[in-house]
Amino acid sequence: MDDKFAIRFWGVRGSYPAPGNATVRYGGNTPCVEVTAGGRTLILDAGTGVIPLGRDLVRRASGKPLEVLLLVSHLHHDHTQGFPFFTPAYIPSTRLHVYGLGADAESLERVLESNQSAQRFPVSLREMGAAKDIRSLRESDEVVWDEDGVRVAAPAQSVGRDALRVRIHRSYAHPGGVYVYRVEWRGRSLVYATDTEGYVGGDRRLAAFARGADVLIHDAQYSEAHYRGQTGAASTQGFGHSTVEMACEAASAAGVGRLVLFHHDPSYGDAQLDELQARARSLFPNSQMAYEGLTLELNELQVRRILDDFVAPRISSQSPS
Ligand SMILES: [Zn+2]
Ligand SMILES: [Zn+2]
Repeated sequence: MDDKFAIRFWGVRGSYPAPGNATVRYGGNTPCVEVTAGGRTLILDAGTGVIPLGRDLVRRASGKPLEVLLLVSHLHHDHTQGFPFFTPAYIPSTRLHVYGLGADAESLERVLESNQSAQRFPVSLREMGAAKDIRSLRESDEVVWDEDGVRVAAPAQSVGRDALRVRIHRSYAHPGGVYVYRVEWRGRSLVYATDTEGYVGGDRRLAAFARGADVLIHDAQYSEAHYRGQTGAASTQGFGHSTVEMACEAASAAGVGRLVLFHHDPSYGDAQLDELQARARSLFPNSQMAYEGLTLELNELQVRRILDDFVAPRISSQSPS
């Protein structure tokens, strides 16, 4: 088993794809994040970013069978629209686990089936050749991937050192609700909190859930002015998405190592996202806008954090008081 725990962004755009000259640097694909831990592949959401990811997974596997765990935050279109074009799902040797938010045990499967009904798409879910294990999760479930494979486990069950473990927080700060996932492997962690709107004074339940994570990926769809309706467009309050300020507040409250701002508004071009990144860094210095291709290695981040902690007191002891 290799030692790498890495995150790679394949789609960072909210609501609908935004191709074109104005979005070349950050990218126009809808949400998809690849997490690799000890050679295992976990995918967060299946927006259009999952399409190039699927092709790349097949290329990297070079003929060997793939096993993939896909966790869906919720069933809105921008988080599922890439799935019918996910190449590994058509390969019979692939083992595909698709878990996520659903009203009952089968509802996730029913929604994916209806997305590919004969009127909507030429290939049905059933006709996709991979061995599929599709189920809705409850908030109290944990997903564990260890040497016995992928399974849904009872909460707080002890797991082996090499187990990849995912915990769930159900947020109501989005129409229909959304699952926030905390992914842990060998003592390092990331929290994926897309499609959530901040509360006045911060979201305390989310802050507790994300406490101390190495990386927090957080919705930051809007500028403050856009959210408040000061740009000429209507206010977006209540749409279920955050401002950059809300994302920074969440990162501070949770005491995370790094914040990655995510689910960019499709009307924002690269220059505007640059400005929002500068704004975010003035509030939470260790933050950045997600862009397609951004790769973070959690192993390295942790080392850097330890060094920072080690160096900081020395610097302050030398500064004039
Ligand atoms: Zn969304
Ligand atoms: Zn949504």
